[in-house]
Amino acid sequence: MNLVLPEQTAHLLVHERQQRAAADGRAQRLLAVRRWQRRKDAADQRLRLARWTGLGAAVRRTLAGVPQPTRTLTPHVSPGTSGDLRARALEVLLHRDLEHVVDLVCWREGEFVHVADSRGHSTRARDGVAVVLTGRDPVAVQDPLRDDGYPFAAVRLHSLFADPRAPDLAVVHTGTHHWPERGGHLGEHGSLGAAQSRAPFLLSGAGVSGRGILERAVRTVDVGATLARLAGASYAGMDGRPVELAVPGAKHVVGLLWDGAPSADLLAQTAAGALPNVARLLAKGCALRGGAIAEFPSVTLVNHTCALTGVGPGRHGIVNNAFYDRESGEQVVPNSSDTWHRAMDWLRPGTTTVFQRLPAGAVSACVNDPVDAGATYSTFALIREMTGTGTSLVGSLPPASADPRATQEHVEGNSDYAWGSQIDDSGLQQVFGLWREGTPPALTWWNTTLTDGAHHAGGPGSAIARAGLRDADARLGVWLDLVEQRGLLEDTVVLLTADHGMQAADPACIGDWDKALTNAGIPYRDEAYGFLYLGEDVALAGP
Ligand SMILES: [Zn+2]
Repeated sequence: MNLVLPEQTAHLLVHERQQRAAADGRAQRLLAVRRWQRRKDAADQRLRLARWTGLGAAVRRTLAGVPQPTRTLTPHVSPGTSGDLRARALEVLLHRDLEHVVDLVCWREGEFVHVADSRGHSTRARDGVAVVLTGRDPVAVQDPLRDDGYPFAAVRLHSLFADPRAPDLAVVHTGTHHWPERGGHLGEHGSLGAAQSRAPFLLSGAGVSGRGILERAVRTVDVGATLARLAGASYAGMDGRPVELAVPGAKHVVGLLWDGAPSADLLAQTAAGALPNVARLLAKGCALRGGAIAEFPSVTLVNHTCALTGVGPGRHGIVNNAFYDRESGEQVVPNSSDTWHRAMDWLRPGTTTVFQRLPAGAVSACVNDPVDAGATYSTFALIREMTGTGTSLVGSLPPASADPRATQEHVEGNSDYAWGSQIDDSGLQQVFGLWREGTPPALTWWNTTLTDGAHHAGGPGSAIARAGLRDADARLGVWLDLVEQRGLLEDTVVLLTADHGMQAADPACIGDWDKALTNAGIPYRDEAYGFLYLGEDVALAGP
């Protein structure tokens, strides 16, 4: 059919077609410009990462041994004799003679976890329902805001014992137990108790609705879920839940982990004016009085992994800094200077990090932390790439004595402090490099090491521990200044946390359970000082 159009209509149609063509042309040009921009951004990013890769040798030399103060990793082993091993071991461990060093003994039997001390024994179902079997309930106090309790005890214990790598008996040291002969320090952590488990939890910046100090607590697995949600990633399948005090939308999500920084002293020092840069964060956000409660055991690698995967040790499989794997018949030490950079080799299959969950194309950075699977930039990836080239740690960076942000009194007096300062200076340099120009990563994770060593050295509240916090605060300030200068504060949300708390040991509180177990003829191996595996097979297996 021929359609005859009035001249004006025909003209309008031609005009409309021309306009559409012009619009299409504009759209095409716009698309081309965007494609070019994307390619340029990617090239810039590659350039930036290449620059850091260029620094790889320096970083590697510095960080090859990042894990902190020396630990005794040799298991204590006794061949003993067989029998009802658990009952016999419990008889020894729960004796009044050891109650100054044994706070609790925990184990799993079927669907229940058991908790016992010298004065009582209870069970906990997965849903937390408690049954007292004898005496009084050793973990009755679970209020997460109290310092003398065992917050979230049931869920934390069930998480640990879900993995067959868990021990037959987990012995929890008393808070004051001092064990220098086994690598213990004046400040310690690892326990199920609140003081050693309580890390800070502070949210600041874009999208954060909470203000001031809030009377509540979360868990370390919630850190992973919160980071994922804020970065636009799914947290489905995590044990943790996102904290609702911040909504997604910030272009840049930054997670700061100050290893071993105890929540209470961090907040007290901030209130006292000693940590001005934490105060800057707090002015635009909130902190939880109850902090983030670490998973059990409240040790470093377990909880770095919890924070970055959002699942507990029973799912990610890093059940302690050292443990015995019955399946492979081997001792596993993922937290040593030789193994830290490949700690993720022991992750259980199916465990994903927050980096791996990010939307496609999102750039991420994992600075000085071994839990780096999926991160675009990773310090430890550089270390892995260069393994076997023969270089070793701390050599290429300027000495801590030249670092204006390192407290010189402690750099001179404590080699761990000097070393931690160098590690953290390299961390600051990396973060500064990643944020200095162009578009910073969508997710930046920045691990600070010095705070752990400083707290081990003197215990929380000591001069050296507080110097460690102040130095970390000064490094934080350098980055915050940069963010402010670049006008990126409004686009950035920050989560400050740690991997565990810290408690002062009592140098007079000494003792050990090893001789008592050996004298009772119990075959066992004690991994990471507190994970007891029973039986002749494990006792006789090599280290
Ligand atoms: Zn730690």
